[in-house]
Amino acid sequence: MATFLKPDKILTVKVGNSTLTIKQKIIPDGTLSTKDICEYVKTGQKIKPQAKLSGGIGKPKGITIHNTEMIDVPDGTNPAEQYCRATFPNLNMGGVVVHFWIYKSEIWQQLSEDERGWHAADGSTRRKSQRADGSLIGGNLDTIALEIIESGEDKETEETAAKLVAYLLDKYGLSPKTDIYTHQYFKPSKACPYYIIPHLNRFIKMVTDFYDEIQTAKKPVVPAPTAPEIKKWYRVQVGAFSVKSNAEALVDKLQKQGYKDAYVV
Ligand SMILES: [Zn+2]
Repeated sequence: MATFLKPDKILTVKVGNSTLTIKQKIIPDGTLSTKDICEYVKTGQKIKPQAKLSGGIGKPKGITIHNTEMIDVPDGTNPAEQYCRATFPNLNMGGVVVHFWIYKSEIWQQLSEDERGWHAADGSTRRKSQRADGSLIGGNLDTIALEIIESGEDKETEETAAKLVAYLLDKYGLSPKTDIYTHQYFKPSKACPYYIIPHLNRFIKMVTDFYDEIQTAKKPVVPAPTAPEIKKWYRVQVGAFSVKSNAEALVDKLQKQGYKDAYVV
């Protein structure tokens, strides 16, 4: 059995001043399980929900972040690739199916961004969202899932994850203020993402900074405005007349006195 996965597609996306490389190995629609994986996936059943997010629309309403532990892997591969491979084709992840696996600078994508996964333990239920508009959200039903692989705070991995979250928020018109969710939000008894929860605000701040970088990079470059040329005249007047000949007489007088530039307006 092959130990490595070959991505079907490698995408390079720009995130503000940096780029991310995403290796895609999307589980094909219609893939059926060859074994009993968990209580909701038995032999002969679909190994992913195979349904669109947000009630069939396919547009995510949020991003759900998870942590999963580091694993030892052979040389020439990395944990993101191996978790991906464990999910499919190996069917060894107990029914968990997520969109992205992240380790260091490595990102593997296993579900399309418009389809549902199984990761938030909330089945097909929704609860109140973090938005003030009273809308509802379900982790599985409405969000894109990221599995951030670390056993303790791994700065490089979290930075890659933060960039990916910022990229997805921007791409789908979502906000770092309201649309980042933890697994725990959907299942309060589950301390996930275990290593990020203690510094969740710092993680969200990092996402926000990358998100702002994207917004800045999008703004068209306008040349710096040049200061308008100041045209202001100071006049010196020595008389005002209702009869033109009187004015001309004064000009005459002034010119004789040496004011050569005197004239009638
Ligand atoms: Zn989780």
